[in-house]
Amino acid sequence: MLEFDLLVIGGGPGGYVAAIRAAQRGLRVCVVEKDRPGGVCLNWGCIPTKAMVRSAEVYHALCTAAEFGVVAENVRYDFAVVRERRDAVVTELADGVAGLLEANGVTLIEGHARFVEPTVVEIHEAGASPTFDGGPRYAAPAGPAVRRVCARDVIVATGSVPAQLPIPGAELPGVVTSDGAFGLTEVPSRLVVIGGSAVGAEWASLFATYGAEVVVVEMRNRLVPSEDDEVGEALGRSFRRRGITVLTGATVTAITEGDGGALRVSIAGPAAHELDADIVLVGVGRRPNTAQLGLEVVGVETDARGFIEVDDRLRTSVEHVYAIGDVTGRALLAHVASHQGVAAADMIAGHGAHLDYSVIPAATFTHPEIASVGLTEDAARAAGHEVVIAKFPFAALGRAKTVGETEGFVKIIAGRAHREVLGVHIIGPSASDLIAEGALAMSLEATLEELAGTIHAHPTLGEIGMEAAMAGLGLPVHIAPRKKR
Ligand code: FAD
Repeated sequence: MLEFDLLVIGGGPGGYVAAIRAAQRGLRVCVVEKDRPGGVCLNWGCIPTKAMVRSAEVYHALCTAAEFGVVAENVRYDFAVVRERRDAVVTELADGVAGLLEANGVTLIEGHARFVEPTVVEIHEAGASPTFDGGPRYAAPAGPAVRRVCARDVIVATGSVPAQLPIPGAELPGVVTSDGAFGLTEVPSRLVVIGGSAVGAEWASLFATYGAEVVVVEMRNRLVPSEDDEVGEALGRSFRRRGITVLTGATVTAITEGDGGALRVSIAGPAAHELDADIVLVGVGRRPNTAQLGLEVVGVETDARGFIEVDDRLRTSVEHVYAIGDVTGRALLAHVASHQGVAAADMIAGHGAHLDYSVIPAATFTHPEIASVGLTEDAARAAGHEVVIAKFPFAALGRAKTVGETEGFVKIIAGRAHREVLGVHIIGPSASDLIAEGALAMSLEATLEELAGTIHAHPTLGEIGMEAAMAGLGLPVHIAPRKKR
C-alpha cells in the first residue's frame, strides 16, 4: 500500500492546483487521475472551446478584412486544422500540468480511484482512454484493483459530467453533448443547440461563425439566464442579427429520425413546431462525477442532486475527507475549483485559508463576449439595495471604433448611498479581460468615484469602466447627459 499525507482524487483545475499547493506546503501528495491531467477544463471545456473560438475569430476577421482595407480573397477554413490546432494546444497544456506536478514532487497515478475506507482508495485501471472522437470517457473502472493508496487526508475533486436529457431520442446518433461536439469532424449544416446558457451559447456562436445554420432552444425567457437581463436580451438580439434562430420559452420534447438521415426535433412552447437538424447539441446542465467512487461505502453525504455536501472549510460529512470544485456544485467554474483547491490544501497543511465567494467573475466566449461579476440589477434590488445604474456603450468608445467592435455595453450596479460597486456586467469586445477591473473594484470595495477618478490609458477598451462610472455619477463626458425632467 502506498502512503501519503494527502491523496487528491481528480487532476482537474481543483485537484491539480490543490496538489501543487499542498506539496509546496511540505506535504507528500498523490493525485489519482483516470484521464489526462487538467480535467474537464483543460481537455473538454475551457481550453479546447477557446482554441476553436480563436480560429473562428481569425476566420471572421478575414471575412470582414475588406472593411479594414485588407484584401483577403477566397477565405475559407479547414476544420481539420482547426481541430488539430485545438488538440495541440490541449496536449501541450496537459503535458505542462503533468510537468508541474512532477516538478513539485507530486506523485501522479493513472487510474480510477474508489474508496474502500475513508482514507484508503483502491486504484483500478481506467475504463476508456481520452479521445476527441466523442467516445465514452466516463466508463466505469475496467480492470481489477491494481493497488491501494492511503493518506492522512483525502480531497475529492472528481468534477462533473454532462447531464443527460430525459427526452425520447436523446440517445440517437447525431445527438451529442458538449463532450461529443469535440468529436465532430465537420461543421454541421443545420445545428440545434438545446440550452442557451454559457456552454450552449458558446457552441452556437462558434458554429454560426463557421457558417452552420444554428437554432438555439432555451427554456427560459432569454439567453444566458444567469446574467443580467439586459445582457441576455442584447445577446439574443446580436445572435438574431447574425442569423442564429433563438427560441426562448421553448423546450425540445423529442428527437426522432427524420428524412435522409436528418434528425427531427420537436419543439414545444409559444411557437410549437418541428425542425430538421444534422446535429443536436445538448448543452444543458452538469451532474457530479461520482460514479463508482464508493462515496456510499464510506458515508460521504451528497445533496438531492448528488453533489457532495461540504461545510465552509470544504469538509465533507466524513472526517479527513474534503471535496472541492464542480463535484460540490458550488459554482461550476474552473477558477472557483482552483480557489477551493488552494484553500483546502492550506487548511490541510495547517495554514490559515482564505475562502471567499463574494467576488466570482465569469466569462462566456460568444461573439460578442460576455463577462460579469457580482450582483445583477434584479438580484441587487431583490437583496434590498437601492441602486444606481452606470452604463456606457462600446459604440461611444474611441478604441472600440478603431478595432471595429462597437457592439455592446458595460453596466455597473452601484449602491445609491455610497456608490460602492455591487456588480459589473459587460457584453462586447474583450469582455472576458475587462471584467478583471470589475472584480478588483469589488474586492477593494471601490466606488463609482474611484473608478471614474482612476486615470485609464487612452485609447483603450479599458476606459469603458471609467466612462460608465462617470455616467453613473451623472457626469458623462463622451455620451450626452440624460435630460433632466
Ligand atoms: P474537472 O475539471 O471535472 O476534473 C475532474 C477530474 O477528475 C477529471 O479529470 C476526471 O477524469 C477525474 N476523475 C473523476 N472521477 C475519478 C476517479 N474516480 N478516479 C480518478 N479520477 C477521477 N469554466 C471556466 O471557468 N471558464 C470557462 O471558459 C469554461 N468553459 C467550459 C466549457 C465547457 C464546454 C465545459 C463543459 C465546461 C467549461 N467550464 C469553464 C467549467 C470547467 O471546466 C469546470 O468548472 C472545471 O473543469 C471544474 O474543475 P474540477 O477540478 O472541479 O473538475
